[in-house]
Amino acid sequence: MKDKTKLIHEGRNPAEHFGAVNTPVYHVSTVLFETVKELNQFTTARMSYGRHGSPGTQALCEALCALEHADGCILTSSGVQAINVALLAFLKPGDHLLMVDSVYSPTRIFCDGLLKDFGITTSYYDPLVGANITDHLQANTKVVFLESPGSLSFEVQDVPAIVKAVKKTNESIITMLDNTWATPLFYKPLDHGVDVSLQAITKYIGGHADVMMGSIAYKETHKTVLEQTRYQMGLSVGPDDAYLALRGLRSLSARLQRHQDNGLTVAKWLQQREGVSRVIHPGLEGDAGHAIWTRDFKGASSLFGFALGDGTRAQVEAMLDHMSLFGMGFSWGGYESLLIPCNVARNRTATTWDMKEQYFRIHVGLEDPDDLIADLDAAITRFYEAA
Ligand SMILES: *Cc1c(COP(=O)(O)O)cnc(C)c1O
Repeated sequence: MKDKTKLIHEGRNPAEHFGAVNTPVYHVSTVLFETVKELNQFTTARMSYGRHGSPGTQALCEALCALEHADGCILTSSGVQAINVALLAFLKPGDHLLMVDSVYSPTRIFCDGLLKDFGITTSYYDPLVGANITDHLQANTKVVFLESPGSLSFEVQDVPAIVKAVKKTNESIITMLDNTWATPLFYKPLDHGVDVSLQAITKYIGGHADVMMGSIAYKETHKTVLEQTRYQMGLSVGPDDAYLALRGLRSLSARLQRHQDNGLTVAKWLQQREGVSRVIHPGLEGDAGHAIWTRDFKGASSLFGFALGDGTRAQVEAMLDHMSLFGMGFSWGGYESLLIPCNVARNRTATTWDMKEQYFRIHVGLEDPDDLIADLDAAITRFYEAA
């Protein structure tokens, strides 16, 4: 079955729910058993305890597994929790974590914070390292973490080369990838040899700027360690949130296609707009990541970066405080457009980011791109007029 069909049909069974198209929301903490025998066999019951899930959360997991080509999936209360729990599942005191330098900044904070306190060391590597990743492996390296394209800076990693080189050196090293930018519709980490696929469902899968959730998808080999971690950490997501996430997933292919088209339209317009010094979008021909993106990805989402000239804070304020359609906010992936100034260099330690110009991260929503372009055009004019 093709992905677009799976998104519609996986994770629901109307016959089990009086014909309802969508799996209903079960609010449940206590689950009752009819007999002592059933009570004693609670671990094999479809529902045993609210924390372990209900038909709604199971339906979401089923649909995600089908899309990710995964054997199992753990839902978490945020994308950050998915990442942090996955790391904790595999790392023990004394272990080393090799982390991509372009990683989402809260992940970096976790590595340099709690993980460090627990006796786990992290070193950072250049996202474009490719097969030379082996130069950075240590005897105690247990996890290699990837995120592609990188947060804010959008470098596309050569995931197959990295995974192959790591596994060739030491088969027991676990690779994980934060796939929030592409979603499993446009990129399937497990198909590229990655052990654990991480997703902030909060972003495109939720898709409506409301629900917070994350997922950890894996193959059978990693089920025990991840499931035990889920159990011991007491992870649980609310049934209403799971319902919203699954509802978002149903329209993912239509929305993402439109995000891609709108994003590319706006990116191409920016490329030729006077005063725009750089556009970083892997879907653009000539972009540094374009070749690998073309080889590995099925599409591009609509989050990318662009730079204007050198600018003062007053210029940035003149520009962004007066947008009519673009909002200023951090969590992207909803239906609406967003624009924020950002500082990439602040989150780098292994590589340098030497862009001197004023850099922005843009999320292109589902509006008509003509209206978005008009808003941006006026904004860029305000930026330069305030100089
Ligand atoms: C937003 C984001 C996360 C975290 O997701 P939350 O649900 O907000 O915790 C993780 N990784 C990337 C790349 C993100 O953009």
